[in-house]
Amino acid sequence: MWKDTMLQILIALFPVFLFLVWHDRAERTRYANVFLAVLCALSMVLTMHYSTVTEQGQHIDFRFVPLLIGSLYGGIPSAAALSIVYVILRTGELSTELDYIIFYIDTAIFLPVLFSRIAAFRRSSRSGRIKLTYTLCIMMLLLAFFSYLYSIADSEFNTILFHIFLTMVYGLAVLFVSGTAVHFTEMAFERVQMQAEVRDVSLSYGNEVRRLQQFIDNTPLIVVFLNDKGLVTHVNDLTLKLMSPVNRIDVINESFGYLVEKIDMQFESCPVGRVMQGEERVTEMVTTRGRSFYTVCCPVKDAAAGSSEGILFIGHDVTELQLLKDEIGRMERLSLVGQMAASITHEIRNPMAVIRGFVQLLNERGSEDQQYYFRIVLEELDRANAIINDFLSLAQNRIIEKEPANLHNLLSELLPLIWADANMRGQTIELQMCQNIDWLDFNCKEIKQLILNLARNGMEAMNDKGGVLRIETRNLADSVELRVIDNGVGMPAETLERLFEPFYTTKASGTGLGLALCLSIVERHNGKIRVESMVGKGTTFIVSFNKPEAIAV
Ligand code: ADP
Ligand code: MG
Repeated sequence: MWKDTMLQILIALFPVFLFLVWHDRAERTRYANVFLAVLCALSMVLTMHYSTVTEQGQHIDFRFVPLLIGSLYGGIPSAAALSIVYVILRTGELSTELDYIIFYIDTAIFLPVLFSRIAAFRRSSRSGRIKLTYTLCIMMLLLAFFSYLYSIADSEFNTILFHIFLTMVYGLAVLFVSGTAVHFTEMAFERVQMQAEVRDVSLSYGNEVRRLQQFIDNTPLIVVFLNDKGLVTHVNDLTLKLMSPVNRIDVINESFGYLVEKIDMQFESCPVGRVMQGEERVTEMVTTRGRSFYTVCCPVKDAAAGSSEGILFIGHDVTELQLLKDEIGRMERLSLVGQMAASITHEIRNPMAVIRGFVQLLNERGSEDQQYYFRIVLEELDRANAIINDFLSLAQNRIIEKEPANLHNLLSELLPLIWADANMRGQTIELQMCQNIDWLDFNCKEIKQLILNLARNGMEAMNDKGGVLRIETRNLADSVELRVIDNGVGMPAETLERLFEPFYTTKASGTGLGLALCLSIVERHNGKIRVESMVGKGTTFIVSFNKPEAIAV
């Protein structure tokens, strides 16, 4: 009996052992179901073939261990195939009517339960799977035991007790075999899963390393790695560029001093040496080949041991930053000078007003030929005053007060003035205003000055009679546009380039402040100013004021 039991155990377990040997690669997972199902079917045939009945009438037959394992791990198709094999094998053994009845009852109870649990089995955790296998196993044993009990019900009480004892021993053996089978099957799957995980981890590790390498090589920093002996182990692309024609192989395994010599850097004291002596972080500003570098040297720590396993040297090119800093300093000084100039010019206006008053007085009292000179003095004083006014409005960068206004209204208020100016020059004004125009926040005084400056420039550019100055407005989706178009002399490229520079003028009596002022006004109104010009054809100034929603976006 023991021999037969051992044989049954071996046959019941051989599919699992074979599976363990075979399933050693992730690629085989696809065929695992079929492989397991075929082996289990074979195991079922063999267990049936070698099944025996003890002297006490106890069946020694482990066939449902492969049925259980194959069905649970193989999924519904395998379970279906194995069930068919099981049913065929069992029906071949049945002889009496009672056998058939018992078989029908057992199968009708067990198989539906088995099938209903397969999906849950696959979803559950390892311990869940073991639990489910034991539950199904016990259920099957109970069914087998009851049918068996039925067949020996007529025996003596003692015999029945003995049978119950035997069945319990047998049941424990079956439970043990099923547990072992599940354990080894799980092991096979886990091993492959672990392999896949290790592969994934090493793949993502490789990617991470590549990404880091790319970052180090392409970063606009000097990056040098050194080992704990202070020898160079890696230099990035920017460092290579700085030390060309020396290449990477020449500096690897060389000392830091050698590398520094190649990139022309001179340190007060070698930062790598200081780090090797235990300093945590050494920073220094160094200049090489006309560029400034902010350098940092620090140890690379081993995260686990906390010990230093190398040294990292980084250099950041801060030349532009330095230049910008210098530039800001210069600008600040300039702006101070500008402010002083503004306050001085402001003060000059008072004595000039006094002079003008007296000259006016003298002019009224003076003789005819003296008046000619006084008029010239007065005109020049007015011109000086106009320059001072323009200069002051340009220099004043104060926050201006704005109120909702309509460009059309401002234009209508200005029109008589422009009209008169144009009349005097023998030119005409064409006005083309769009239908509706949005109200925007304007400083009316400034906008009027802007329009006047642009219009006056246009008129001055059309010195010959018959010039036409067009003023157009447009209400666009995100902005309000003002166009001042003349058909005057136009501008060459060099004028276009310097147009908005303060004091840039091509006119004998110009100040060169008009457009600089226009630009600062437009900027204060969150707008933009564009120029289109062709020599001999004319010029168009386009001013666009953003609508508030457009700014918010
Ligand atoms: P100003 O009018 O005092 O010369 P501006 O700053 O108003 O100073 O203009 C600077 C220069 O730009 C002018 O001297 C002129 O050469 C050029 N310019 C400005 N507007 C026009 C225009 N509509 N057509 C041709 N040239 C222009
Ligand atoms: Mg001008």
